[in-house]
Amino acid sequence: MTFAATVLTLYPEMFPGPLGVSLAGRALEEQRWSLKTLQIRDFSTGKHRTVDETPAGGGAGMVLKADVLAACIDHATTLQPHCPVLAMTPRGKPITQSRVRELAAGPGVMILCGRFEGFDERIFLGRQVEEVSVGDIVLSGGEPAALMLLDACIRLLPGVMGAPSSGTEESFEQGLLEYPHYTRPAEWEGYAIPEVLRSGDHAKIAAWRKQRSEEDTRARRPDLWERYKRD
Ligand code: SAH
Repeated sequence: MTFAATVLTLYPEMFPGPLGVSLAGRALEEQRWSLKTLQIRDFSTGKHRTVDETPAGGGAGMVLKADVLAACIDHATTLQPHCPVLAMTPRGKPITQSRVRELAAGPGVMILCGRFEGFDERIFLGRQVEEVSVGDIVLSGGEPAALMLLDACIRLLPGVMGAPSSGTEESFEQGLLEYPHYTRPAEWEGYAIPEVLRSGDHAKIAAWRKQRSEEDTRARRPDLWERYKRD
């Protein structure tokens, strides 16, 4: 089955962009996933093809019109029914690896990219759209957020990554950050690779990795650590 991505954007030329190279690019060629872009502007019916208007209540910037967004979403939904529709917005629920896993296991995603000040809020009343944030930062548009989300999904698709096991031990998969990695040379600028990793004792190595994983999560991500201990 091909994972079908449809991106609703004012800048379709940004796609596939970085997803056209490396693992994701090869997977696209191999048809493990497909990509379609819809130009939001094509769904504006006015003479001037307006997609945005000034914010109600005043203030800086422009707001994407609900009627235009709805027409674009409706068209996308007829092309690809039964697919989750995600809108990229810093007001959304922060994306997690477990949500990415669910999405990657499904038929695909439709991703709505904002620009300017964002969307007319009523689009979230009028259409079933999941609001997603890629972190507590503000981007100039939803496109880099969409690329990021798609990249995270694509690498999980069957046959995309070399060694399947490298997916399951990684950061967040067990609710912890991954342990740190080292490679040759054994000593670099006076820093040695931890002795245990060179011991060949697999049980000891596994124990060391688990311990570092826990220590680092506790120190760096108290939020993850609290959840890990609780669950
Ligand atoms: N005025 C908005 C920010 C708009 S940024 C606010 O303060 O909440 C313009 C567009 O960039 C948004 O509509 C959204 O699509 C995208 N964007 C910005 N930051 C994002 C984030 N952290 N996650 C997902 N999308 C983001």
